[in-house]
Amino acid sequence: ALVYAQALVISFSSLLCFSLSVTLLDSRSVQGDLAWVASPMEGGWEEVSIMDEKNIPIRTYQVCNVMEPNQNNWLRTHWIRRGPAQRIYIEIKFTLRDCNSLPGVIGTCKETFNLYYLESDSDNERYAHESRFAKIDTVAADESFTQVDIGDRIMKLNTEVRDVGVLSCTGFYLAFQDVGACIALVSVHVFYKKCPLAVRNLAQFPDTVTGADTSSLVEVRGSCVNHSEEQEVPKMYCGADGEWLVPIGNCLCNPGYEERNEQCQVCKVGYYRSLSSDGGCRKCPLHSYSIEEGATSCDCDKGYYRSETDPAAMPCTRPPSAPHNLISNVNETSVLLEWSAPLSSGGRQDLTYNVVCKQCVRDTQRCMPCGDDVRYSPQRLSLRSTRVSVHQLQAHTNYTFQIWAVNGVSKHSPSLEQAVSVTLTTNQAAPSTVMMVQSKDITRDTLSLFWDEPDKPNGVILEYEVKYYEKDQNERSYRIVKTTSRSTDIKDLTPLTSYVFHVRARTAAGYGEFSAPFEFSTNTVAAPVVGGVMSSAVLLLLVAGCVVVLLLILIITFIITKRRSKYSKTKQAEEKNLQPGVRIYVDPFTYEDPNQAIREFAKEINTSCIKIEKVIGIGEFGEVCSGRLKLPGKREICVAIKTLKAGFTEQQRLDFLSEASVIGQFEHPNIIHLEGVVTKCKPVMIITEYMENSSLDMFLRKNDGRFTVIQLVGILRGIASGMKYLSDMSYVHRDLAARNILVNSNLVCKVSDFGMSRVLEDEPEGAYTTRVRGGKIPIRWTAPEAITYRKFTSASDVWSYGIVMWEVMSYGERPYWDMSNQDVIKAIEEGYRLPPPMECPLALHQLMLECWMRERADRPKFSQIINMLDKLIRNPATNSTLIKKKLRWYRIEIGIGRCSEFLVTDRDRF
Ligand code: AMP
Repeated sequence: ALVYAQALVISFSSLLCFSLSVTLLDSRSVQGDLAWVASPMEGGWEEVSIMDEKNIPIRTYQVCNVMEPNQNNWLRTHWIRRGPAQRIYIEIKFTLRDCNSLPGVIGTCKETFNLYYLESDSDNERYAHESRFAKIDTVAADESFTQVDIGDRIMKLNTEVRDVGVLSCTGFYLAFQDVGACIALVSVHVFYKKCPLAVRNLAQFPDTVTGADTSSLVEVRGSCVNHSEEQEVPKMYCGADGEWLVPIGNCLCNPGYEERNEQCQVCKVGYYRSLSSDGGCRKCPLHSYSIEEGATSCDCDKGYYRSETDPAAMPCTRPPSAPHNLISNVNETSVLLEWSAPLSSGGRQDLTYNVVCKQCVRDTQRCMPCGDDVRYSPQRLSLRSTRVSVHQLQAHTNYTFQIWAVNGVSKHSPSLEQAVSVTLTTNQAAPSTVMMVQSKDITRDTLSLFWDEPDKPNGVILEYEVKYYEKDQNERSYRIVKTTSRSTDIKDLTPLTSYVFHVRARTAAGYGEFSAPFEFSTNTVAAPVVGGVMSSAVLLLLVAGCVVVLLLILIITFIITKRRSKYSKTKQAEEKNLQPGVRIYVDPFTYEDPNQAIREFAKEINTSCIKIEKVIGIGEFGEVCSGRLKLPGKREICVAIKTLKAGFTEQQRLDFLSEASVIGQFEHPNIIHLEGVVTKCKPVMIITEYMENSSLDMFLRKNDGRFTVIQLVGILRGIASGMKYLSDMSYVHRDLAARNILVNSNLVCKVSDFGMSRVLEDEPEGAYTTRVRGGKIPIRWTAPEAITYRKFTSASDVWSYGIVMWEVMSYGERPYWDMSNQDVIKAIEEGYRLPPPMECPLALHQLMLECWMRERADRPKFSQIINMLDKLIRNPATNSTLIKKKLRWYRIEIGIGRCSEFLVTDRDRF
């Protein structure tokens, strides 16, 4: 036994705080012997009891054959049932003796041990040969110890965790191989992880065992908590660390319940909640109550009502009181009625008035409703004004008018208290107009006229008067014929002549108005013309004319509308004064409603077409996942899915989606391709093509030195081609850097990261400082004029492109290494430039230096860069002058634009 182990004080702490871990084996909790199998049985691992910090005995295994060479001591656990675990974690607490503190052991003493496992469906492999065990890892101590301080009871305890996944059998053994260390296994804890039972967006997700792979996500469907219903299918993903990720969809509390502490709690008495989309329970509005819990609406107090269209949040109201101060003003057979608004509107805004007209028999109380021929101006019902004029009443007749004040709840309690009335008598009035005059028995000099009685004689008709004249003569030279009947013969007329006739009636009140003109000719029969002297031919012409004019108006309106919409679409391009045919980038923030830009440039995708598989990165607004997209009628493709994390503001949502409205305008093989967006449900997502090799800087670092110069130039050519496309569209990227280039499985590079704002950590020496465009400037990649006075142009993008060239040729080296941003700005100002990376053709470095010309007009255009790279690719001899030594700086001779090597030192010493 090892003396130092007896005095061990162990402080166990829980390793995992958030996820749920389920123990499969805990050596400390085993009562009695562990009885694991040691081989050799003698002289190798030995089981020893010690006391932990609470003086509870625990079982440990120790071995310390540091003096003897060629040690191979195995210790195997008993068979451990796997349960539902797909990935298991092994937490080992152990102490290890520092070989240097043991005299005379050099060459034999080790400071590591090996961890193995063997899967099996039952406990019958206990003595399986060691060669069948698979190695999990070699475990080394973080801290070994040199001496034992028993007085203070302090010992250096190591905790190491290893994991292994994709298990298939029902159980497994673990084995510890010692190859000559002085080691005590204090505890072995084997467990697997679960995402704990969780409630998100009112959906409950059961505790879920994590997936087999460290990056796999387990999709779990949630079920709505009690008293709630699904608004959109709730889903979440259980990550390998036992944490829930990307909550999608949600449930809403049923009416009568509200969300509190992630549950749906019933509304208290006196409160209500009517729609599941409402906020919390609300107090019953004025003049209403609820006497039971869980009310979806409140009942009205007695005498108060609610109309069918009143929202539940509106107070209960009453019918209005009666209008008052009703005044009538009789003018012959017309009456003008005026009144004042009621003193009480009943608490509502929808007050109108209805007029009831009754015709009453003189000296009796008998009244009956007025006939349909009575006219009301502006109308009889739903009057908003407090006046109405009533026409075409009968003369010398008693009428009673009631004015009712009406609102949305009047029908619940109609009562005369809501009306005011007036009784009046109309005056005498002249008869109304004769409407129709006809003729018959026409001869060369006579014709017989006949007509209808006026609609409103307003008394006894005493006689009719006929006025007539020759059509071609002056109207003032007319003749008059009077008659008591409704017909008369007109004699002594000129043959073959057209005459115009008007007829009027007379009562005791006087003459009525003359009728409209009616035209007849002697010795022929003319059809009376209704309403005047217009012939039917004229009428026909007029109608035809109207149709033509209407058609013309419609055509003109159509042309103007077309032009307008065309203008609004091309407005920006026109404003930029560009040649026709060149497609121009449109800044989504110039739209009055940025949502309109999103609708215009990005296709809305239904979430049912998307399958999220893995989290692959963290973006500025939330997780970036990989997954699959299957659009109807198209084959399934791999996609990247950027999500907007929960709790965002509307501005953040628009900023996030602005990237989609930008990418959606581009179509080029070296620009990341937008598949579409999800904006109609949460989380809001941007779906782009999937780039298997992720960002270029990481990719190059991982593959340091593995590409030929031609391959690297090919990468640069692709980026230049994407940038030429952007500059042709008048788009300035402002953040061109290798980290913002994505690489796919065919090594095609695509420009990405078109986000409009950057919220980055405030580390002074990080990539970005100084806010622009709601973001920060990446100093090392940015042209001096853009840093100094924010002059961002395609020429400043060319400067950044030069830095990307340098990053590519140096396999992802950080530009200007560990210099501070301030020193970089100063050095550039003084004319210094980055030197050629190792193995970089001089011609390429020359191109970089041209991209870094102080005067932006002196820098090459992207089209020229492409030409130069093409030349390099076609003529590899140009690549032959390679830089073989490490250089520190180049200095451009200011004013001349010529480059010369300035200082040569070892970069690493810089
Ligand atoms: P971003 O928010 O664009 O900076 O994205 C964050 C990280 O997600 C990037 O650094 C990439 O690692 C990854 N990523 C973004 N878009 C894609 C994509 N289309 N394909 C593969 N990985 C991507």
